[in-house]
Amino acid sequence: MTATASRPDPQPTPLARAADVPVPSADSLAGRFPLNRNDTPASPAQRARALEDLHFGTTFTDHMVHARWTQGEGWGRRGTIAYGDLALSPAAAILHYGQEVFEGIKAYRHRDGSVWTFRPRYNAARLNASARRMALPEMEEEDIIASLVDLVRADHEWVPGGAGESLYLRPFAFASEPFLGVRPARQVDYYVIASPAGNYFPHGLEPLSIWVSREYHRAGPGGTGAAKTGGNYASSLLPQQEAHEAGCDQVCFLDAATGQNLEELGGMNIMVVDADGSVRTPRLTGSILEGATRASIITLLRDEGRRVTEETISLQGLLEDIGSGRVSEVFACGTAAVVVPIGRLAGPGVEAEITGTEVTRRIHELLTGIQYGRRPDPHGWMYRLT
Ligand SMILES: *Cc1c(COP(=O)(O)O)cnc(C)c1O
Repeated sequence: MTATASRPDPQPTPLARAADVPVPSADSLAGRFPLNRNDTPASPAQRARALEDLHFGTTFTDHMVHARWTQGEGWGRRGTIAYGDLALSPAAAILHYGQEVFEGIKAYRHRDGSVWTFRPRYNAARLNASARRMALPEMEEEDIIASLVDLVRADHEWVPGGAGESLYLRPFAFASEPFLGVRPARQVDYYVIASPAGNYFPHGLEPLSIWVSREYHRAGPGGTGAAKTGGNYASSLLPQQEAHEAGCDQVCFLDAATGQNLEELGGMNIMVVDADGSVRTPRLTGSILEGATRASIITLLRDEGRRVTEETISLQGLLEDIGSGRVSEVFACGTAAVVVPIGRLAGPGVEAEITGTEVTRRIHELLTGIQYGRRPDPHGWMYRLT
């Protein structure tokens, strides 16, 4: 058996509580970022071609949302404008010190043509939590959600309707003030861009192979690991390269304090399924990103009567439990890829195969069933955009 420190399930986190506050209808939020139509949008034929051959993050829609914050004035200049390159001073602080935050959330087309998103207040509250950590200004949660409404309404024809397809929305904010001194910027720009995205796994759920990084950590105690900020991704690229060279798809990071416990992948949380059907995931230590997918899966599994715990999971214990058969599945989860089985763990002194995918497939079906409107939405997570 593992030597994991089991604790009682924690109280809902501030983010989980914020996420559950109801959102006013999209009709009542629409228009906060007035539309100034792109007068050279993609032609219907160009758009159709783009939507036929979907990759991740390569094609963008006709519009983007913009707002600018200045110290003293707050957020102003709101609009939905033509998508296009930015003019940025080479002295803009983002380019030097990386003061930025971002989000990732999807718009899903349902069979009746309507377009929905999933728990938008979760992402809005998290963008603000990330902004606080990065000393960036917050924006009213309902303004953030309104920006998604306005962009998706302007570009609704870009929401694909095929299986597993979506319009990926990327809100982000960064220090645009031209200033090389080191302090929080007094001018910040907020944008939302949108990219039609295909099914992450066109050939079905394919197990990932994971490289466990011993040399590098993603985040440390007191660092920025709980914030969705570009720097965390920048520091994960070298270990990711190491993973690729070792023939693996993704990296799993261990905690920086002890180097023994599982934290998460570069952009996805991780979960472990025991042979008795219970599920464990690393507890939120402050250096783990609090995923909406992670939180929703915990709820859905508990709804099914499964035991789900947030606890310390040591790499050593996990490897022993995979060897003994106590652990039957490991999977990763996040908005972009949804739910992905992990079939192999590798790394210095690490080699393990995991063959089970039953619970992983089940949770993938439950979650995407809600998101695409194929299943009832008992928690009111879906929000109609248009
Ligand atoms: C965005 C992200 C996740 C997943 O969060 P979701 O809200 O589920 O998309 C997990 N880990 C990291 C590091 C992330 O940036």
